[in-house]
Amino acid sequence: MENKQPVDYIIVGQGLAGTLLSYFLLLDNQRVIVLDYPHEGRSSNIASGLVTPVTGRRIAKSWRFEELSQFAKQTYQSIEADLGIKIWHERSIVRALHNVFEENEWARRSGYPEFQTFMNDTPDLTDIEGKIQPPHAWGELLSCAQVAMPLLVETWRTRLVESGIFFEENIDYQQIKEENGRVIYGQWSAKKLVFCEGARVVVNPFLNHLPFLVTKGEVLIVRIPSLPSQRILKHKLFLVPLGNSLFWVGSTSHHEFEGMAPSTAARVWLVQELEKTLIAPYEVVGQLAGIRPTVADLRPFLGLHQEFSTLAIFNGLGTKGALLGPFFAKQMVDFLLGKSGLEPEVDIARFENDAQIGHFFRK
Ligand SMILES: Cc1cc2nc3c(=O)[nH]c(=O)nc-3n(C[C@H](O)[C@H](O)[C@H](O)COP(=O)(O)OP(=O)(O)OC[C@H]3O[C@@H](n4cnc5c(N)ncnc54)[C@H](O)[C@@H]3O)c2cc1C
Repeated sequence: MENKQPVDYIIVGQGLAGTLLSYFLLLDNQRVIVLDYPHEGRSSNIASGLVTPVTGRRIAKSWRFEELSQFAKQTYQSIEADLGIKIWHERSIVRALHNVFEENEWARRSGYPEFQTFMNDTPDLTDIEGKIQPPHAWGELLSCAQVAMPLLVETWRTRLVESGIFFEENIDYQQIKEENGRVIYGQWSAKKLVFCEGARVVVNPFLNHLPFLVTKGEVLIVRIPSLPSQRILKHKLFLVPLGNSLFWVGSTSHHEFEGMAPSTAARVWLVQELEKTLIAPYEVVGQLAGIRPTVADLRPFLGLHQEFSTLAIFNGLGTKGALLGPFFAKQMVDFLLGKSGLEPEVDIARFENDAQIGHFFRK
């Protein structure tokens, strides 16, 4: 251990989770190193980064939306100022209502006072008329945002590289050791090693007992020159503006899948759905696939390993990393620094033994 370089924290994985965790640790003057390997299927590099107050056909309110989105906005805007890039884009979502059921759900929800502030029943459609297949009806979701996740992760990586604290490495779990209350990996010795590997956590022998239910998502990148790019469109698919007439179009969602690479079946399905959406001419210019680190109970995973207390996890951001990431990265950092505890709802201790995990899956 004498020859090892002492740091406070080793972070494994630099997607959104590792980015935000290292950001808050460095802000608190901690000595950090980040190890990341660009595995196929990483999620942050392909996500659209939407932050929405409601989700799904039943228009359910996002968990703790006001509190989490306010914290997210503050955090992304602080990072924007630090890195000199634009990450947080406030946008509305023009949403197609495909049948009477969806129209009724919309009308019912928008009647509730706590939903009224972000639901517009009479959106202005002049800029999309004649370009999109007309659905049964339309609504507009306000108070949404689009976080430029790939740009954030890439720019933060450059910052870490320039600071000499980023190392491209596919970590070998067998080489992690605990000695005298510190964790040893490679040339470093640290107080804690925090795993932020996204969906690849399923091959981590220290953590693969946790009930992840990872989901593959595939998207197309499509050029649609005549479509305006101020708002996001949700018709058969999401059409999210990327600039230069390009749109992120997606996505699929499958718990069972073969391989991490983009598939022909997904491409065919996405193009079919796009045909049902667009009247305007378009050109498919790319296809991407990623694996979402989704968790059985839809809550993040924060905490310490039960047996090896130098090992920790910050993961399980699921389908809502852009919203959940900042608040829970800060909570994780405060916990690591002994400033506060973890909320039981996100602590991995909620699945502390196999019996509880088994019970969860039987429910
Ligand atoms: C199609 C799609 C659409 C999405 N849309 C949205 C959206 O609109 N809004 C939203 O909030 N979220 C969305 N998400 C989810 C979002 O991408 C995730 O919540 C978030 O990016 C997860 O970040 P992460 O850092 O945990 O994982 P990742 O981004 O996967 O990062 C993990 C990193 O760890 C690295 N790694 C893994 N194992 C090792 C190892 N052994 N050694 C070294 N490095 C390792 C990986 O290569 C990767 O770089 C979407 C995801 C997909 C796939």
